[in-house]
Amino acid sequence: MADRDERQNDPGGTDAAGRQVQPAGTGGDVARPAEGYRSMIEPRTGVAGALSPVGGFGVTLSNMFRPTVTEQYPREQPPTKPRYHGRHQLNRYADGLERCIGCELCAWACPADAIYVEGAENTPDAQFSPGERYGRVYQINYLRCIFCGLCIEACPTRALTMTNEYELAGPTRAGMIWEKQDLLAPLREGQLSTPHPMVEGTTDTEYYRNEVTGSTQAQVDWVAEHRPDDPTLPVNAAQGATVPDLGETRLAQRAITAAAHKQGGAR
Ligand code: SF4
Ligand code: SF4
Repeated sequence: MADRDERQNDPGGTDAAGRQVQPAGTGGDVARPAEGYRSMIEPRTGVAGALSPVGGFGVTLSNMFRPTVTEQYPREQPPTKPRYHGRHQLNRYADGLERCIGCELCAWACPADAIYVEGAENTPDAQFSPGERYGRVYQINYLRCIFCGLCIEACPTRALTMTNEYELAGPTRAGMIWEKQDLLAPLREGQLSTPHPMVEGTTDTEYYRNEVTGSTQAQVDWVAEHRPDDPTLPVNAAQGATVPDLGETRLAQRAITAAAHKQGGAR
């Protein structure tokens, strides 16, 4: 209290060097030059000086004569820049095996703590990725993600990349946590769903070097023996079997986005 009274009663004055000092407690305890603030910007003179008060309207005036652009979203989706950071994707190798090895580096790199990974051992009967381990659980919480891309920089196998997809609305908070099945890349023609063995005679190094260019007959035979109804088998695909490569979260999210588009289009 005494200290506060002392500061309130301090009238200020000059310091030992003769510089003016503000009264204590006003934020002016530091010695300041007596001549005050002097701008480094040269003052405008002549015509420039006369017009400077209205100079700030230059941007407004120049835009008044430009055509108005109204984006018709969601009826028309504006294209993003090629390197736009949108939804993540967990990629596959050419034979369908998953690139993710469950190392958790992406989770450690994430500044928002948005990624949760649990790795597990591959076994001869359940090989999901080349090598020893795969990502058994993979979740991204899109309520936390700030789309900075640090996770994809950290990934050693290029398993994790980001797409240009930005429609990520969800109905519930829980629904904004995307699971592995929601994030896995869709299976293309010629790729087999996991698990299945690696291409015979290869190591994970050959996979990392992209030397595996597709699934082999031995892999097809293995899947046919263990999952004869698998829709990614060529025989089933030829009969029109559809590949269920979307998780529940993504299906729900797609339905919501479609409803929003319908609403937007009805205007
Ligand atoms: S983009 Fe950034 S915030 Fe989002 S999951 Fe990756 S590291 Fe985390
Ligand atoms: S996505 Fe990449 S960094 Fe993340 S766990 Fe899988 S392999 Fe590791």
